[in-house]
Amino acid sequence: MKSLPPRADQLGMIRCHICDLVFQPAEEPGKAVRCPRCAAAVHRRLPNSIVRTWAFLIAGVILYIPANILPVMYTSFFGNGIESTITDGVVSFWNSGSYGIALVIFIASIAVPCAKFLILATLLITARKRSRWARLERARLYRMIEHIGYWSMLDVLVVAVVVALVKFRELATIEPRVGILFFGAVVILTMLSAMSFDPRLIWDDEE
Ligand SMILES: [Zn+2]
Repeated sequence: MKSLPPRADQLGMIRCHICDLVFQPAEEPGKAVRCPRCAAAVHRRLPNSIVRTWAFLIAGVILYIPANILPVMYTSFFGNGIESTITDGVVSFWNSGSYGIALVIFIASIAVPCAKFLILATLLITARKRSRWARLERARLYRMIEHIGYWSMLDVLVVAVVVALVKFRELATIEPRVGILFFGAVVILTMLSAMSFDPRLIWDDEE
């Protein structure tokens, strides 16, 4: 591996994450380091990154259970009302031949959240152990989950669009149910989890 320029940390420098100023922090034990330019509190690494990331991740995994068990929508065709969960939705769209919609719902509500849980847990465990394993790949995985965070709301959006479409055509009654709130909370918690993780932890201890 070719040699890299020194890191801020090795030079005793610190970077302000608000205004990007790189400066040498004055040594004042017990006092928070403040940026000399914009006065933001500056940290070498995000404070308690690993613990906070775990907390958001675990909360997300816990809420993912009601998000899947509870119904996300109520549909009523000519008086026959049923409440369906996400899985019911995928199965019924698939059986009715709407493979595209079934696939979108499956990816947005099952594949993506589960992949995010696994990736975040892997990043946390390896960062904690200060592992040198597959650093570049882990950095890529981090960028990936950071990038897809916003798109995970797709599932909430699909339910909203289906509700709006059906209401618009007045074919049936359709209403969102409480499960979708839990799903939205899972998306927000995994996003917060990804934001709490300090990707610089991957590269600490690099030779
Ligand atoms: Zn600053």
